[in-house]
Amino acid sequence: MTPEPYRPEPIETFQSPEAFEAMRKALTEVRAQFGRHYPLIIGGEKVHTQATITSTNPSNPSEMIGVSAKAGIAEADAALDAAWRAFQSWKDWPQEHRSRVLLKAAQIMKRRQRELEAWLVYEIGKNWVEAAADVAEAIDFIRYYAISALKYKDGAPVVPYPGEDNEAFYIPLGVGVVIAPWNFPLAILTGMTVAPIAVGNCVVSKPAEDTVVIAAKLFEILEEAGLPAGVANYLPGSGSEVGAYLVQHPRTRFVNFTGSLEVGLRIHESAARLSPGQVWLKRAFLELGGKDGLIVDETADLAAAAQATVQSAYGFQGQKCSAASRLIVVDAVHDLLMEQILHRTEGLIVGPAEENPDMGPVASAQQEKTVLSYIEIGQQEGRLALGGRKLEGSGFFIAPTVFERVSPDARIAQEEIFGPVLSVIRVPDFDTALEVANGTRYGLTGGVFSRKRERLERARREFHVGNLYFNRKITGALVGVQPFGGFNLSGTDTKAGGPDYLLNFLQMKSVTERF
Ligand code: NDP
Repeated sequence: MTPEPYRPEPIETFQSPEAFEAMRKALTEVRAQFGRHYPLIIGGEKVHTQATITSTNPSNPSEMIGVSAKAGIAEADAALDAAWRAFQSWKDWPQEHRSRVLLKAAQIMKRRQRELEAWLVYEIGKNWVEAAADVAEAIDFIRYYAISALKYKDGAPVVPYPGEDNEAFYIPLGVGVVIAPWNFPLAILTGMTVAPIAVGNCVVSKPAEDTVVIAAKLFEILEEAGLPAGVANYLPGSGSEVGAYLVQHPRTRFVNFTGSLEVGLRIHESAARLSPGQVWLKRAFLELGGKDGLIVDETADLAAAAQATVQSAYGFQGQKCSAASRLIVVDAVHDLLMEQILHRTEGLIVGPAEENPDMGPVASAQQEKTVLSYIEIGQQEGRLALGGRKLEGSGFFIAPTVFERVSPDARIAQEEIFGPVLSVIRVPDFDTALEVANGTRYGLTGGVFSRKRERLERARREFHVGNLYFNRKITGALVGVQPFGGFNLSGTDTKAGGPDYLLNFLQMKSVTERF
């Protein structure tokens, strides 16, 4: 098998009239499919349930996107059964055959690219380019993992030893549970589902409740690509019920989770506890929140820094784990930089995602409540320089918000807000900037704008984050180019989209025969 070498999918910007028109058409066609019902998929069977989850449009919450079946405990048990049944043969498929099914899935996803983008626009309020980046990343994850998996098929080299035949080879772990967040509802769910199955595991995948329709589309694609029944089971349901049940289950071999610190800690603890009948130590991969800092020093290109700050802070309304939520500025350029940032931020257009504004709504009523409560806290902790309010309109629209004069230990400088709120911290010099940047419990992304080589080199060593960027925005990691994962309480640093990621889902077996 000689697949085309992996290259990241280009992200559509919709500048050409053809792309613009294709997206308009996709939005119309997808709208005509609102209100459909989506089943669970267990062992290849479509299962409808009495309980349901209704997905709505955050730009206009009275609009229903679709209705999903909702799993309970019985369905979770059935899904684990189906996955273990499928594992008995999937684990022995030649790696080329497994990879081929996945490469086909990537191709189907590519064919349906505009349509999937349209679902993301409606279901979670991404503007067109943000939706395009989500779909491109999902395609990238599938191709990258399908191709990377080939490198493990012949095992690992061992040192020859007289009188013995020694070998070491990789086998999959078994059945795992995938639990995904709503903010990259296609890319992250796809990456976390496809990586383990690429190397022979089977999974039960639970999407976030806010994004069950785009999740169902992934499973339509896997089915069309010919993935055998039971290899990936689709199980939307409540995180605290069915998610927690799956995590503690004795027949769950590993948990692949991306989400908040709070839920991640709960999963960490539950997965570590041995359930009756359990015969393995569960592996728990936890990729969690961030409080990402961007440093700008007095030598920086201020126009570029202002542009990168605004992109990193307000892209997808700040609802990215990598979003810049702390701007740490050296005194000498504070006022000049702030002038440019405020000017750019004032110009951002907020509105229904379908109209492709700079910023759409935040994801849900719950998100809106959380973000507005932090804005209230910010009024006590800093000086509101811009925004700080809910905007007119039927959706969950919040004005891009900037707080200045924020102390490094303020709550809005320490807690993840996950919305369009930037806290600006003024510092005397670069040394202090670095200290402040490292002064949180998180460690996901970070950035430095500087023209001083020795400062960049020092930050390379000392800025303790999993993904560090110099003189550019701090969001938008590309699969295979910037392996992604956080330090400290940002996670277990699994480095999704990295060269070693698949090893998380494999174990090595060493076999010796005496001649
Ligand atoms: P949550 O932690 O609230 O939810 C994530 C998933 O966990 C959902 O599917 C949720 O289900 C489920 N869940 C909730 N409670 C439990 C439980 N007790 N046991 C098992 N599963 C449970 O995160 P959000 O969806 O709000 O996502 C935003 C968070 O994700 C942010 O903190 C963000 O930083 C982080 N994130 C991290 C990334 C990274 O790579 N480090 C990337 C993207 C996001 P339900 O929907 O039913 O609540």
